[in-house]
Amino acid sequence: MKDTFTHQGMRKRLVDVLKQKGISNADVLNAINTIPRHLFMDSGFIDHAYVDKAFPIAADQTISQPYTVAKQTELLCVKSGDKILEIGTGSGYQTAVLLEMGATVYSIERQNELFKKTKRFLPKLGYRPKRLIFGDGYIGLKEEAPFDGIIVTAGAPYVPNPLLAQLKVGAKLVIPVGDKVQIMNVFTRTSATEFNKETFGEFRFVPLLEDKN
Ligand code: SAH
Repeated sequence: MKDTFTHQGMRKRLVDVLKQKGISNADVLNAINTIPRHLFMDSGFIDHAYVDKAFPIAADQTISQPYTVAKQTELLCVKSGDKILEIGTGSGYQTAVLLEMGATVYSIERQNELFKKTKRFLPKLGYRPKRLIFGDGYIGLKEEAPFDGIIVTAGAPYVPNPLLAQLKVGAKLVIPVGDKVQIMNVFTRTSATEFNKETFGEFRFVPLLEDKN
């Protein structure tokens, strides 16, 4: 579990790449500059940790591309102290970005292997989510709702209604929607019954799976 000057230098260059690609939120860039992404990846891939690409983790899943993590986090408009729900814990990297920004984080993962691995791993780096849940993200986390923001880190075939219902007024749901290619959708709750939808281009995610399909 080493973070060397070499890794830190590579992270600075990654942050420059993300700035060139249009990421401007200083808190997001600071989180990416701070978090040792190479430690979230299997050792065989460590040399690739600071290029702007997605990579395989356990259970046929991926750690999202740094640009995608940065863009989704920027779109979520996270402030310190916000209560955020993440769907798709995976490696825990996105969870760490949210924690580094001062959010209180709840995160749901449906694959037991990843859930257990990440639950053990994050505290080793000092990252303490409020709750990691082994369960189905489609239903959200009603007992802890409402949230200041909800971020879905897998491609959803449609927008699950429970996630919209669990937003505070003024809060955002950031969710990639589509099958092979996803469009980044941002829903802002404008009142108890109304939502404003914006879209932000194409991304590629592993699928948000229903039941045990
Ligand atoms: N945020 C992660 C991205 C992992 S990829 C990271 O930074 O590494 C997406 C994750 O969503 C996978 O781990 C996958 O197992 C999980 N997932 C897929 N369908 C899900 C569902 N219905 N509920 C919760 N998690 C789900």
